[in-house]
Amino acid sequence: MKIGVLALQGDFAAHAAALQQAAWGNSIAVEVLEVRRTAELAGLDGLVLPGGESTTLLNLMQDEPWFEALRAFHRNGGTILGTCAGAILLSREVLNPEQPSLGLIDATIERNGFGRQVDSFETEIEVDIPGGRMTAVFIRAPRFRRLSGEVEVLGSWQGEPVLVREGNAIACTFHPELTGDVRLHALFLSVAQEANHGSLNRVNERCGA
Ligand code: GLN
Repeated sequence: MKIGVLALQGDFAAHAAALQQAAWGNSIAVEVLEVRRTAELAGLDGLVLPGGESTTLLNLMQDEPWFEALRAFHRNGGTILGTCAGAILLSREVLNPEQPSLGLIDATIERNGFGRQVDSFETEIEVDIPGGRMTAVFIRAPRFRRLSGEVEVLGSWQGEPVLVREGNAIACTFHPELTGDVRLHALFLSVAQEANHGSLNRVNERCGA
């Protein structure tokens, strides 16, 4: 598979390393590429939208029609993992303040939802991923304030959702690339792999195979 990491801003290098590690640990052949132009989405099975600052990311996305390109990528079966600022981009509605987003996960998300008092912390979260609880680092993290019934909760902290999935879009409000625990990256790769097989099957069906 080919997996891209949006490399306009944020900690994309740590994601690339975590993806390599997850691929290696799960014997999945993955080529990881940094993506800086919309044209580089072609041929990718999955894309990571890293954390950083969503407003900066939106500004950097002005140069090219990123929203159209990412929505088309998703519509055509590409799997997307959005972490922290990336989760903000994926959500349907953004608060504090309101700002444009891709709307690929039917959720409302509040930026900097923990305020200034505890703007960054590390904690244990419950996850629906083999291996049980996971250490999660929250950095000026957003908080999900509403999820539609289509959105599946895969991870929570003190009863609130911090890791969610809607179809081929996954979002988490923490930084999974910073702990050395690459189970979330492995989950993302397996979702991308399933989507990839789905599209291969569709091609095979069309070809009568
Ligand atoms: N606070 C940032 C924002 O609103 C997100 C923080 C992060 O990605 N670590 O975009």
